[in-house]
Amino acid sequence: MASIKPYQFEPESDPENFNEDERAEPVQERRLNDVSEWCTCNNCAKMPIEEENICCKEIQKVVKRMMEVPDPPKCMVEHPGFEPNCLNPYTLQNINNIYRADYGPVRRRNEEERFRYLAYRSFVSWCWGYLGRSVRVVIPSCVVNRIRLQFPDPAGQYVGFRPPLD
Ligand SMILES: [Zn+2]
Ligand SMILES: [Zn+2]
Repeated sequence: MASIKPYQFEPESDPENFNEDERAEPVQERRLNDVSEWCTCNNCAKMPIEEENICCKEIQKVVKRMMEVPDPPKCMVEHPGFEPNCLNPYTLQNINNIYRADYGPVRRRNEEERFRYLAYRSFVSWCWGYLGRSVRVVIPSCVVNRIRLQFPDPAGQYVGFRPPLD
């Protein structure tokens, strides 16, 4: 007789959300608390998925990058390398080429989503040192939100010229 399995939480698959597998301790329901309970960079926002509620100041690899700057920024999005690595569309055009050579084309619903995906990949590559497709790390809330602001979702929103990704 088959045993009855308890309910198992399985988050919906979302290419934009990375799963953490190196977090030291589980985080307790941050979604339910005020952002100020866990964010010390002042740029994070509440995220719908529990594990995405993490501040740049909590991730060792990210903090390491910040500390390399002579006058360390208060938040990763203020790092002088953030814009050139994660928001500059020509960087992302190049990341797209590098990624595609190894893993094939980035398939996403629209161009903004592809730019966002490449921006997350570029961020991971910059901080963690690899650009793999199956890389699973959590990107801090402040960084996710800054990238979303740069490459917003609503169709038809004017965002200025961007180079083609193909
Ligand atoms: Zn924060
Ligand atoms: Zn931050």
